[in-house]
Amino acid sequence: MIKAPNIAAFNPPRRILMGPGPSDVHPQVLAAQAKPTIGHLDPLFITMMDELKQLLQYAFQTRNEMTLAVSAPGSAGMETCFVNLLQPGDSVIVCRNGVFGERMRQNVVRCGATAITVDNAWGEPVSPAAVEQALKDHPEVKFVAFVHAETSTGALSDAKTLCALAKKYNCLSIVDAVTSLGGSELRVDDWGIDAIYAGSQKCLSCVPGLSPVSFSPAAVEVIKARTVPVQSWFLDQSLVMAYWSGGAKRSYHHTAPVNALYALHESLRLLAAEGLEQAWQRHNDMHQLLKTGLEPLGLNFVVAQESRLPQLNAVFIPEGVDDAAVRKQLLEDYNLEIGAGLGDLAGKAWRIGLMGYAAKRENVALCLQALQNVLV
Ligand code: PLP
Repeated sequence: MIKAPNIAAFNPPRRILMGPGPSDVHPQVLAAQAKPTIGHLDPLFITMMDELKQLLQYAFQTRNEMTLAVSAPGSAGMETCFVNLLQPGDSVIVCRNGVFGERMRQNVVRCGATAITVDNAWGEPVSPAAVEQALKDHPEVKFVAFVHAETSTGALSDAKTLCALAKKYNCLSIVDAVTSLGGSELRVDDWGIDAIYAGSQKCLSCVPGLSPVSFSPAAVEVIKARTVPVQSWFLDQSLVMAYWSGGAKRSYHHTAPVNALYALHESLRLLAAEGLEQAWQRHNDMHQLLKTGLEPLGLNFVVAQESRLPQLNAVFIPEGVDDAAVRKQLLEDYNLEIGAGLGDLAGKAWRIGLMGYAAKRENVALCLQALQNVLV
């Protein structure tokens, strides 16, 4: 017998999460998650799931029937889009301007498809002109994939224009909205987005571990017309939809993360109560406030103003400042988490998140004061 370990209960402190995610979870969302677990085929749970779908359709601004939350984090939402839509031999334009575009490319390759990459420098948005050139050069392409809000750099790409280009060349668009959903303008139906995935842990201020996704009718047709079965049983949407298709028709696919879904339901209810446009505006207002205080501290933005994400503020670390020591002091003295640089920006930039519930005046004030104290 292995002896039972004597381990104390885990009591995390209450941090202020101003990094690249997870963001602070709204107290009402935490409370929702602590409600009693019921069966995932319980009629009351099914009613809650039907509401959840309506709330997701609102957040995405879509009437897509195939709108649901994958029971796993954003990376699984990404994988859901690629494994369901792509078949071996397909060609896909993948735009790379940070870490997550490259992750998309890896997904494409693992599906046995060909990735045609369109690269922009880290910190720049995806160039529609470069995408159009690639579409002209590669008439065999079926999909255009890009990251709307690149969390590794803080750059916002023009999803509306990129999706219109995809349509012009008879391609479907695959959009990463992990960091944009709830924080930046996003209109799935109006912009003609075909497949989109997001994350629960960023601007929705929900607990991590769920990935809202949505597929347009055109994308559903492509999934239905597959000749090769989806290689992942768990992520195969034709099977998952039997659970999410609505009402009493729901049947077992996998055990839903019941309490996490209560949390998502509550976070989306809060978003609907605030209003999407109001939430986008709040993120913008808080970004302006933060920006006004950061620049006098000598902290300059990685991304040009016109394509800057309000919810992810990447700033260069000033010369001679010890990156890790500053972040450690912020955490220990102020309970404040900001993000380190990722990939090409590791050691060169900090990423200050203003996501969801964390995008508020008192957080901006605390962050600016703490940075001022630590940087002297
Ligand atoms: N895409 C983007 C733009 C992200 O920022 C992230 C996570 O930070 C992901 C995908 C992956 O999401 P997750 O970490 O929830 O798997």
